[in-house]
Amino acid sequence: MPVAPAALTLHELREQIAAGALDPRALLRDLLERISRLNPSLRAYIAVDPERVLAQLEARLQHGPRGPLFGIPITVKDNLCVSGEETACGSQILSGFRPPYHATVVERLLQAGAVVIPRANMDEFAFGSSTETSAFGPTRNPWDPARVPGGSSGGSAAAVAADVAIAALGTDTGGSIRQPASFCGVVGLKPTYGRVSRYGLIAFASSLDQAGPLTKDVTDCALLLSVIAGQDARDSTSAPMPVPDYLAALSEPVKGLRVGVPALPSDGLDPQVAAALEEAQRVLERLGMRPVPVELPHIRHAVETYYIIATAEASSNLARYDGVRYGWRATALPAGPARGGGIDASSAQRGLLPMYLQTRAQGFGAEAVRRILLGTYVLSRGYYDAYYLQGMKVRTLMKRDFDAALAQCDALLLPTAPTPAFRLGEKLADPLQMYLSDIYTISANLAGVPAMSVPCGLSREGLPIGLQLIGAPFQEAMLLRVARAYEQATDWHRRRPALAAAGTAR
Ligand code: GLN
Repeated sequence: MPVAPAALTLHELREQIAAGALDPRALLRDLLERISRLNPSLRAYIAVDPERVLAQLEARLQHGPRGPLFGIPITVKDNLCVSGEETACGSQILSGFRPPYHATVVERLLQAGAVVIPRANMDEFAFGSSTETSAFGPTRNPWDPARVPGGSSGGSAAAVAADVAIAALGTDTGGSIRQPASFCGVVGLKPTYGRVSRYGLIAFASSLDQAGPLTKDVTDCALLLSVIAGQDARDSTSAPMPVPDYLAALSEPVKGLRVGVPALPSDGLDPQVAAALEEAQRVLERLGMRPVPVELPHIRHAVETYYIIATAEASSNLARYDGVRYGWRATALPAGPARGGGIDASSAQRGLLPMYLQTRAQGFGAEAVRRILLGTYVLSRGYYDAYYLQGMKVRTLMKRDFDAALAQCDALLLPTAPTPAFRLGEKLADPLQMYLSDIYTISANLAGVPAMSVPCGLSREGLPIGLQLIGAPFQEAMLLRVARAYEQATDWHRRRPALAAAGTAR
């Protein structure tokens, strides 16, 4: 049985299209057919409008540009602005919002000739690790529909795993690309802070957010990263650093490289994940890499530090959603005779203030409210020094840990998540348990360093396990090189969920 076009990788499709062996229309039709068949139960996309996507392809075929992604559909998370397309960040409060401009990463995809498919499902405002906080309903894990796909880029990861996306963009503030990549058995990379423009990425925590690729293999990851990376005049935190040739880095040898193995807090670490990591280390050693024990002494404070800094930033970023400037507004306001201006007890019952209050009360879900409250608290007078300032100091210590560890090795090897995918509903009522699922990913965001997740095993229940590689700032090429060597020595990236096999051969 021939392999369905939607099941191919980005680099395979690119070759076939360039050689004239595949019509991009056939590819898009196959993909849209799979989306219409699988998405109602999977909910990897909030919504897809086939007509608009097909029209976009026709425009691309007529007018180009014929870049490296010519005619290839790329899925983007619902927090990356696509001009004229609804972009709601998984939230009721932004529903109906159509940005008047493209995020820079979206613009770069279009300049590379890609067809952009918007609205991969996500946790509301990227707050979460399971995609269950989406206002549009949870995404399911293609490997087991009773399980979560991880989050917050769960829609992007599930779509790639189920072959309803060729490749996708997600965003990562504390693990939101890597943890869903690990839960869904795909490759995910969070770039160095400043490597990729944040312009048009709806802000969660501006000092931590980065957009990055979720792909079927490491080569696709390198390809997509080369398209989106680079300085952008519209994001002052994007770095004026040249973008290396990530594809060329893939074939560089790994023999003699040093892999740093940190001593980690192991409470909550599933023995199956630990075993898969040990085996992955042996594979890297067989490839000629040398293990080096390293220390990351402050990593055990990662979760509490992150939940101070990230919520502080989130509470200020979310202050702008007031029912006036963006998206949705509450209409069911308490009735009463209209009276003019002034914020006093009586006008609080009607007029502008109640509109703000009702819009925010109804428009944000429970997790967003929790984050706004936590963030406002840690920033409040009297607590600022005790929480936010302390958090920033610990963040600096963590950055120094990484500097010291990465001076002794070329890449660090860690688990991505402590467990394989958990069940829907399992952690939703217990925020602390949910937050702890990010224990190994968060510190890379606090330190601003690049990190990626690569499939490295399957649990007894048949669920994917991911390994995480962390590198020095702007050393994405090193991570991709090690990941590619690992991938070539194993075949975990070729395993597909039964769902993906439905109607295709791979
Ligand atoms: N799961 C983490 C959180 O809930 C990270 C989310 C993210 O990276 N956007 O904040």
